[in-house]
Amino acid sequence: MIPYGRQDISQADVDAVIAVLQSDFLTQGPAVLAFEEAVKSACGVCHAVAVSNATAALHIACLALGVGPGDHVWTSPITFVASANCALYCGADVDFVDIDAGTFNMSPERLAEKLDSAKREGRLPKVVIPVHLAGQSCDMAALHALAQRYGFRIIEDASHAVGAAYRDEPVGNCRYSDIAVFSFHPVKIVTTGEGGIALTNDPALAAQMALLRTHGVTRDERLMEGESHGPWYNEQVTLGFNYRMTDMQAALGTSQMSRLRAFVDKRREIAARYDHAFANQPFTVQAQNPDTRSSYHLYIIHVRRADAALRREVFEDLRRRGLGVNLHYIPVYLQRFYRRLGFQPGLCPAAEDYYAGAISIPLYPGLSDGDQATVIDAVIAAVRQ
Ligand SMILES: *Cc1c(COP(=O)(O)O)cnc(C)c1O
Repeated sequence: MIPYGRQDISQADVDAVIAVLQSDFLTQGPAVLAFEEAVKSACGVCHAVAVSNATAALHIACLALGVGPGDHVWTSPITFVASANCALYCGADVDFVDIDAGTFNMSPERLAEKLDSAKREGRLPKVVIPVHLAGQSCDMAALHALAQRYGFRIIEDASHAVGAAYRDEPVGNCRYSDIAVFSFHPVKIVTTGEGGIALTNDPALAAQMALLRTHGVTRDERLMEGESHGPWYNEQVTLGFNYRMTDMQAALGTSQMSRLRAFVDKRREIAARYDHAFANQPFTVQAQNPDTRSSYHLYIIHVRRADAALRREVFEDLRRRGLGVNLHYIPVYLQRFYRRLGFQPGLCPAAEDYYAGAISIPLYPGLSDGDQATVIDAVIAAVRQ
């Protein structure tokens, strides 16, 4: 089976982890600081808070922005459930903004319309979470302009977009957002096994997220309200969590970050070959906005909707041919749990059209030319049938 994604671990990665195992620190220590520095310098951002996974990063990002009961948080329906769950963790309400039918990212036009009616109804969102699907940045300048106009904050769910660029600057520099989040799950661009990071240029948000990462407990006197009891004194100033990353994970991450450019270049090379091979086929591929440079976490094809059963047939045929194809994603509000919250089919028609035809095909740095040729032939044959 050729999987849809796979990590790439070098001997240098292995050595970096072993070195930590033989050092004084296992959990959050000097290797986490070094990893945060590596991500900051790759992205050109001022502050980084490494955590146990991107779901945790989204959670503390929402909390740092003050999301709580009575607040509204909006995200894309075409994402992993974590982009929406983070708002529910904070007791807020979540809602979904439909996607652009070409790029599959949150549509600035649909967002503008939804904001307009929300304003009239007095239920504007506190935070909007755009998702850079498959590694292609959303139209951040347009989203930022709406944030200025309607007064909401932006958390970029950039889980797929480590190493991507928007308008010739790295995704993660937070030029158009308050906070950006990366995931380091093994199928993503670089991995720490499990891991995530929250990036921001705002020192107060960074300090709050760092506090929330370790139980809300601080040893920093500037953050304390009470009198010190002595040199042992620490103070819990808010309700936090244990969302720390380990030094083993961080060492793996720093070693992986040194190959970020090579990883993304290889992914883009493979994607370009797919683009070329699929140029005149009876299916479409994710449209690329010329302002963006995707990191190609995923390569998504879209089988036209004319025949609703077609996608299932093509999908099953590709699996029979030994391709570990996948589907990213079921619209979040169609998940059973969200249906129980009252969401109904029909909420986001473009997202539902997308869902009816989308298939993610294999793409990862270690995909050989021969395996890619097999994938290309199988996809063309399966759709033709
Ligand atoms: C993977 C992913 C997450 C969650 O990442 P974890 O590190 O597994 O918690 C969140 N959002 C999106 C879009 C993802 O793909």
